[in-house]
Amino acid sequence: MNRSLIEADSDATVFQHFCPEKLDTLPPSSQRMQWTDLVDQTLCEIQDRGNSIDEIEKVLQTIQMVPSAIELLKSLRANNTRVLILSDANTFFIDVILRNHGLHDLIADIITNPAYTDDKGRLRVNRRILATDPQHNCPNTCGVNICKGQELDRYTTTHGPFRRVMYVGDGMNDFCPGLRLKHNDHYFVRNGKALAKAMLTKPDFANRVSAQVTYWKDHSVIVDSVSKQAAVPSSL
Ligand SMILES: [Zn+2]
Repeated sequence: MNRSLIEADSDATVFQHFCPEKLDTLPPSSQRMQWTDLVDQTLCEIQDRGNSIDEIEKVLQTIQMVPSAIELLKSLRANNTRVLILSDANTFFIDVILRNHGLHDLIADIITNPAYTDDKGRLRVNRRILATDPQHNCPNTCGVNICKGQELDRYTTTHGPFRRVMYVGDGMNDFCPGLRLKHNDHYFVRNGKALAKAMLTKPDFANRVSAQVTYWKDHSVIVDSVSKQAAVPSSL
């Protein structure tokens, strides 16, 4: 989960609170289990040793929004802009964070990994694309559980056409949707994060993006670019 809207990584915040030792000893991504599966396994461990869903929710409620992100969401609403959150977190974490800040009504749709309660009453998380389902087979830098590019294409086909799509992202899984943007669209890449580093140091990444690219640190840059009738998929 990345940081376009919040000041923290929500998965890491939960890990840090309940099992910091696990976070400290995580192997490199190439050597560990798939991230959504790891979050699910960790949630089970946390709850099996006695912590409740309410306690997990309370920890999520400590996560702060980036202040300028709140202004951005309100500005988008004022401009009748449809906001989609496209995230590798999960429905439970995102719902708790948005509701805690009174922002849920500003978001039109959320596409992410589904959370559910199992037959033992535990909060669980599934991959958006289950390991047993047909895989997305996208050749870009997408996780196996979700291809944000395919999700964006599907969303614009279902709900569009939009006059302009503005995409806000920062992680490598935000590169694929950047490739789906058209010349008239706008790609907001957060400075200092993995996506910006790849775009700025590897010409073969940047050259494949047709949309106008803006590197940003503060959401006011995005607010300034908002115009009527645009669509803004964002990562939480
Ligand atoms: Zn993809």
